[in-house]
Amino acid sequence: MATELKTFTGSQFIGKPVLADIEFIPHLEKINDFAATNGLKIYITSSARPWGVPVVTPVVPPAKMSNHLIGHAIDMNIDIGGKLFTSHELGDFNSLPPAIKVFITDIRNHPVLRWGGDFSPPDTVHIDDGLNFHNSNIWKQKFPIIQSDLTGLTQPGIRAVNSPRLLLLTTPLMEGDDVKAVQEKLIGQGFNLGITGADGLFGPATSKAVMKFQEQEDLQPIDGIVGDKTREALGL
Ligand SMILES: [Zn+2]
Repeated sequence: MATELKTFTGSQFIGKPVLADIEFIPHLEKINDFAATNGLKIYITSSARPWGVPVVTPVVPPAKMSNHLIGHAIDMNIDIGGKLFTSHELGDFNSLPPAIKVFITDIRNHPVLRWGGDFSPPDTVHIDDGLNFHNSNIWKQKFPIIQSDLTGLTQPGIRAVNSPRLLLLTTPLMEGDDVKAVQEKLIGQGFNLGITGADGLFGPATSKAVMKFQEQEDLQPIDGIVGDKTREALGL
């Protein structure tokens, strides 16, 4: 089993940066292929998610084994010719344009991928590979590794000393001294973070400034995510 958090970029992927487990990347490539074949863009709203608990909590595995927590799921809207199909429109399968119907049918016919519109209750913006369902033991092995990559937690609730978390645009916004340190470096380099300045909240202006910084420094991928390379280039 290989487990490692990676960023994914695909020709048809737009919206938020995609973070995924290395073993989910081939499935993302497949989703990208299906979208390309049908002339669709996949507008990402969420991918790998940090487990929503404060740092100082008892070590308990989460009750809900979401595939987002191990980087094996995406939430998306579908863009076709500039028109965005959100959870509402995607819920009415029969009214969808043929291209989206075929795309969803491609997902359904794939041996592993699942469309959340088939769940009960339906989750029409969700696609995953069902790893939580098919192999909960592998899910449990991946969980602390992906969460560690994502948040600097070695186990749920325990932060590693030398493992800074990735900083990126999330909902709700990431907040902390580590965000503030990045913002101060960006401002020091002449980037404009708007009226709020270095407020310790990783908002859209900070994300945009990170992307411009990455472009300037030729740090690939230009994704607005602060990982080791970007952190080092900022002098942190
Ligand atoms: Zn989802």
